[in-house]
Amino acid sequence: MTSEQEYCVKCRECCKWVCTQITTPSSVDAEFYLKRGCRILRYEDGVSKYLLYVPSVCPNLKDDGCSIYPVRPVACSEYRGNDPITLDVCQWGKVRDGEQG
Ligand code: SF4
Ligand code: SF4
Repeated sequence: MTSEQEYCVKCRECCKWVCTQITTPSSVDAEFYLKRGCRILRYEDGVSKYLLYVPSVCPNLKDDGCSIYPVRPVACSEYRGNDPITLDVCQWGKVRDGEQG
């Protein structure tokens, strides 16, 4: 098992959500999303943006990690935990950044 797999098997956070950018949600929309288990996060990228995270556990995620790890999507293999929902939890992203100096 690679060091990436060791971190990711313990975490698995980025395999549990799908995310899309939304316009500023109304209070009615926000309540609807939140009561359905979604999360709404705001971040600054020059301008204020809102991201909607919808719970969606990947069917390839098993107890011991990704079951298609060698052939997982490029979006997964290139992911480095640099979005608001994983910034604080992605240990692999921190390690990889350190390794790359
Ligand atoms: S958030 Fe980072 S450490 Fe967690 S599973 Fe995703 S890539 Fe791995
Ligand atoms: S394919 Fe694998 S790495 Fe990608 S989201 Fe699913 S379980 Fe996670």
